Amino acid sequence: MNHTNEFVRSKQPYDAIVVGAGASGLYALYHLQKRGYNAMLIEAGDGVAGTWYWNRYPGLRVDVESVEYSYAFDDDLQQEWEWSERYAAQPELERYFNHVADRFDLRPSILLSRRVTAAQFDEASGRWNVETDRGETFDAQYCIMATGLLSAPKDVNFPGLDEFKGVTAHTARWPEEGIDFAGKKVAVIGTGSSGIQVIPIVAETAEHLTVFQRTPAFAVPLRNCVPPEGYFEEVKANYAEWRRREKYASFGGWVAVNYKPVDLTTTSALAVSEEERLALYEDRWESGGLAFYNVYPDIFGDRAANDTLAEFLREKTRTRIDDPAIADILIPNDYPVMMRRLSAETNYYETFNRDNVTLVDVRATPIQSFTPIGLQTTEQEYDFDIAIFATGFDAMSGALVRIDIRGRDGQALTDHWSDEIRTTFGMMASGFPNMFYISGPGSPAPLFQPVLFCEDQMTWLTSLFSHMKTQGKTVVDPTPEFEETWIQECDRALDVTLFNETPSWYVGGNIEGKSGRGLIYFGGIHPYREWISKCASNDYAGFALQ
Ligand code: NAP
Repeated sequence: MNHTNEFVRSKQPYDAIVVGAGASGLYALYHLQKRGYNAMLIEAGDGVAGTWYWNRYPGLRVDVESVEYSYAFDDDLQQEWEWSERYAAQPELERYFNHVADRFDLRPSILLSRRVTAAQFDEASGRWNVETDRGETFDAQYCIMATGLLSAPKDVNFPGLDEFKGVTAHTARWPEEGIDFAGKKVAVIGTGSSGIQVIPIVAETAEHLTVFQRTPAFAVPLRNCVPPEGYFEEVKANYAEWRRREKYASFGGWVAVNYKPVDLTTTSALAVSEEERLALYEDRWESGGLAFYNVYPDIFGDRAANDTLAEFLREKTRTRIDDPAIADILIPNDYPVMMRRLSAETNYYETFNRDNVTLVDVRATPIQSFTPIGLQTTEQEYDFDIAIFATGFDAMSGALVRIDIRGRDGQALTDHWSDEIRTTFGMMASGFPNMFYISGPGSPAPLFQPVLFCEDQMTWLTSLFSHMKTQGKTVVDPTPEFEETWIQECDRALDVTLFNETPSWYVGGNIEGKSGRGLIYFGGIHPYREWISKCASNDYAGFALQ
């Protein structure tokens, strides 16, 4: 038992255990301690930063501007931290979250390098017993799962993979020492945001790169750079206003377009002239990155409106690809844009103009199995030295179902979620009292940047805890009836969008047998805030206190 462990153990019994030291977990720990809760955090990695600790593949950078993808809770922090680029790369983000851990003196309360394997609710005490893979147990009144919405890699289970003699790596579990591609034949499987970021970098040094694409993605230029002189200073001078707009007047928690904060567009794409519509799309194209999330709101629910943007992007992309046959494979034409997460890229399409890059359409010629020297599709065999899996995540629920969580009467969370993901506000599940999820399934987290979203959820939770204290209650559990109300609200919100038109991770479609029901609240942040604040002002109706 090491010294840190002794120190942390000496502080038992805990008011709260936070699981996960990513953006949400670090903030949760800070937020709880600042309000006087005796809280500690357990993290599987050897360092903090969550996503930015585990995903360290070359090319990874954030696709929301760094000045926006950062904490807003402390003005000194946001004034003193200096970003070096418009969109920070992984090492800088990892440094930022380490800085936060140091600056707010969180490290003494963080236990690294142990994975939470199980958690049981004890009915008699109304507390959680949390176990780690080191055989430790910890006890707390509240258990706060900040385990990440995109943290559990989807299982990679190609037939024959065990026989493959080369090097393998998953983008979300990249080796710290890196991988040298020089003179190597490399394969990348998967062309979501991770694949789209790693592919151009690999192509620069590999002898040959073969990209295996199943579903083509819509991707737009990121346009990373060192921003124009004075831009960061200008944001900092007006940070309060930027943050207000990000939180309350934006789609996804970011507002920068061409270095200015812009208002939400509220008109229909079909209510304006083609000239006006194209001018707006050009403006977003010029800005780059995720600026396209702030266009006409009906692109999310009306196929004709959506087609206007999809067609704009298809035309822009086609001009960048030399071979029309390759362009036909790379450009999506059978699902609405934005219904898979828009990817932001740097030289992605130009990469396929290189002589050392081959694109394989595995929708047309599926992968059959790996072989000792590569893989076999239904058409031919490919050989390579290194296989990179950019195959994505068991999103939203994956990290939680990998822990043996037992609620009332020993019920497993996996049983509660066997047919569909059932949560209340994406923050709790009925029958699992005093356990809370941050950016959890059933929340709008994927549609709103998590670094800001955790502030909303933690503020709501500690208000609930204060309410419980004043009522002399120690245990909170959403009722099954109220949970059903939330699931139906999730259904309603999903039904008015086009998200179900393509089987992405947003709707559980990337994992065989996974239901998309209740996985994400597609109503978005603003209706979500209305729901949770109405519930709070109604004395947390729908939540049973004891
Ligand atoms: P993803 O979007 O789920 O993409 C996974 C890719 O792997 C898809 O192209 C998928 O094809 C393919 N794939 C999976 N299993 C396969 C199989 N058995 N055979 C062939 N292809 C297979 O995962 P991701 O790229 O890791 O991104 C996930 C999310 O993380 C993003 O949507 C984004 O929210 C976030 N992210 C953000 C950034 C950033 O820039 N900040 C970077 C990386 C990730 P199918 O679609 O056909 O299944």
